[in-house]
Amino acid sequence: MLYRNHFVRNLSDIGSRSRCLQRRNNNKYWFSLSFRTATTLPDLNIERSDHICQIKETLQAQIQKYHDKIASLSRSELNAKNLLLLPIRHSQQYSYQSHLLSLLQNVSPHKHIRDTCVQMNQELSKFCIDMSMRRDVYNQYKIYYDEIYKQQEESAMDNEWKRLLHMLLRDYRRNGLGLNEKDYDKMKELSKRISELSIIFNNNLSLWNPKFTFTREQLKGMDEDWLHIRYNGKESDDYKVTLQYPDYMPIMDKCEVESTRAKMELEFHSRCKVENSRIIEEVIALRQMRSELLGYANHSDYICEIRMAKTSQRVSQFLQNLWNRIQDLSQRDLEVLLQLKKADKAKCGETFDGEFGVEFTHIYNIYLYMYIMKLCLFNQFPKKNIYTYIYFFFFFCGLFARYYMNQRVEKDCKIDNEKLREYFPLELVIRGCFDIFQQLFGLKIVPVQGVSSKLWHEDVQAFELIDGKKETVGYFMLDLHPREGKFSHACMTTLQQGCSIYDHDGQRTGSQVPMNVMICNFPKPTPNKPCLLSHNEVTTFFHEFGHVMHQLCGQPNLARFSGPNFLTIFFFFQSEDFVETPSQMFENWCWDKESLDMMSGHYKDNNKKIPDELIKGIQQSRKINSGLHHTRQLYFGMLDQYIHSGKFDIHQENTEQLCARLSESIWGVKATENTNFLATFSHLVGGYDATYYGYLWSEVISFDMFRTKFGKGKLLDQTVGLLFRDKVLKWGGSKDGMELVTNFLGREPKMDAFLKEKGLELEMEE
Ligand SMILES: [Zn+2]
Repeated sequence: MLYRNHFVRNLSDIGSRSRCLQRRNNNKYWFSLSFRTATTLPDLNIERSDHICQIKETLQAQIQKYHDKIASLSRSELNAKNLLLLPIRHSQQYSYQSHLLSLLQNVSPHKHIRDTCVQMNQELSKFCIDMSMRRDVYNQYKIYYDEIYKQQEESAMDNEWKRLLHMLLRDYRRNGLGLNEKDYDKMKELSKRISELSIIFNNNLSLWNPKFTFTREQLKGMDEDWLHIRYNGKESDDYKVTLQYPDYMPIMDKCEVESTRAKMELEFHSRCKVENSRIIEEVIALRQMRSELLGYANHSDYICEIRMAKTSQRVSQFLQNLWNRIQDLSQRDLEVLLQLKKADKAKCGETFDGEFGVEFTHIYNIYLYMYIMKLCLFNQFPKKNIYTYIYFFFFFCGLFARYYMNQRVEKDCKIDNEKLREYFPLELVIRGCFDIFQQLFGLKIVPVQGVSSKLWHEDVQAFELIDGKKETVGYFMLDLHPREGKFSHACMTTLQQGCSIYDHDGQRTGSQVPMNVMICNFPKPTPNKPCLLSHNEVTTFFHEFGHVMHQLCGQPNLARFSGPNFLTIFFFFQSEDFVETPSQMFENWCWDKESLDMMSGHYKDNNKKIPDELIKGIQQSRKINSGLHHTRQLYFGMLDQYIHSGKFDIHQENTEQLCARLSESIWGVKATENTNFLATFSHLVGGYDATYYGYLWSEVISFDMFRTKFGKGKLLDQTVGLLFRDKVLKWGGSKDGMELVTNFLGREPKMDAFLKEKGLELEMEE
């Protein structure tokens, strides 16, 4: 019943048709390590560790071989065929093996396989870093670029090959290979020191675990179960509480006693204040020195160079512009919340101080929070890391809002999340989502049968994506339920990149289809109840499925430009940030009545659609508090840019003073005294520096594309869908994100649609 709209093909059917296709391209059958059809689907149900080790050894040997070959070329042999075709053919031929290890590390049901994959991936990644630092190889590219490419080969070269050459040289330069020996050594010293400091910073945080005692009265509002676990003993009225997330978050969430929340907030945000403040200040200075050595004005310029924004100046302009346009509304949000606080205080007979502090932090989406906590039970990572991930997750998703922001949501738009969940049985969500994408992009999704023994778990299903000419576009697999040791969040991961197949002479002889896997952790159905999703989970499904389609619809010639290269749960992990924008745009389908009707229906009677008032409620909740929510995001983004753009001067003010100043001037909320946000925020030392703005940047662009082109009533319009495929998805990473967006929109992106969607501009006009 689940896939009643899709016809089912059997294996021999797929095999013969695809082989015909291959024959037409190639004039001969093609068998290689990469797989093209379901019949050549390799065994993904790997149980022997030595197979994993063999794959890693093969990969390593091949990478070594082509690097040695390049290093040994004589000057007369320096040409595109030798310097570019070698890495191009390598990425195509070993695409599947390179991604298999990452996939199995995250999904294999066998612990020994996951462990071996972790170890092999670590060794491989270290090996690849060593290869990328080879000066003998870099010199060959440099000579080729300066003396041969520019004079003889540039004009005739394919655009994607040119882009690859530029990226290779850019990455070598960013690694410091363009520096003289002395500066190169200095740069390596700086990088080493930064990475040592980051480790100490994070260790300080994870070892910081004081315990506090509260009375039952001080914990008013907390659940009995939660209290029971923390109870000190029969004789006393004491409860022991730590700063770990299972203690801290529910208190900030539910505790009705303000002084308890304030105490926890102060303790939480003053963790490691002395030692970590010193560390972050040193890291900021070292990063500035390193970027200057590499020829950049500041660290943010170094980071932004490989992102859509390109320069820190453009990022600053963007943040400032957005702030100018929403600060009035944010101010108005604050006033509404202050009135709520005033009423609350009057009810308790307490004095109203007329101020807002960050001690009112509160997660207003308790359901998603509980869901994430549940997933942690299945996590393969050490617990202390998990809490960091959750913290990270909430920060970037912007799910932290304040106690009174939540009160406002409850007051102004009542949503019964549990009732809403009854309308989202997983089967209907999948079917609706498939139908929407099939309609929009003129494609067909067909389950692949007879391959279950080759898949790693019985929960996994494989599908083929077919275009209007009945040709294979790609394959994807869904692995949707949690199990022990499985990656515990949601993501899409590549299994094989889609690209052209080149022969030894650089002639295109056919194509390799892309293949990927979508990993989620929705609860398993029980005999009495199907798996029911929250609205947030439905949005997650759409977001991740957007990544699946983004990669499968791409038709670049080079494997490097097919889809993301690794797990995409947080887009800040990626250099090419555009990869998140289409998925963020697809989330909009989850807020529209017509598409919601397509993917929902009460689990007891699928014909019963979500009541209008519930849909209105979720649409309204998207806009509420948005002024304040976004100025908070702007505060983090601007703070991150400020410290990484060479403006921070320790002789003028320290990081604690800086946070206090910017929190009040940008967000309008006073930082709690004696706290330093920068001393507790591990991600700005841990590799996600100067990229916080990306959350807002990508949101603004995705709303612009959605509102301008798909707008009202065009959510299922195939003409627009095909235009999006043609102007954006088709190119994969072979063009700059900004170029793709501009081509699709017919102009540069603007922020009006974003402001309107959030209710910001509309409110300002009143
Ligand atoms: Zn994503």
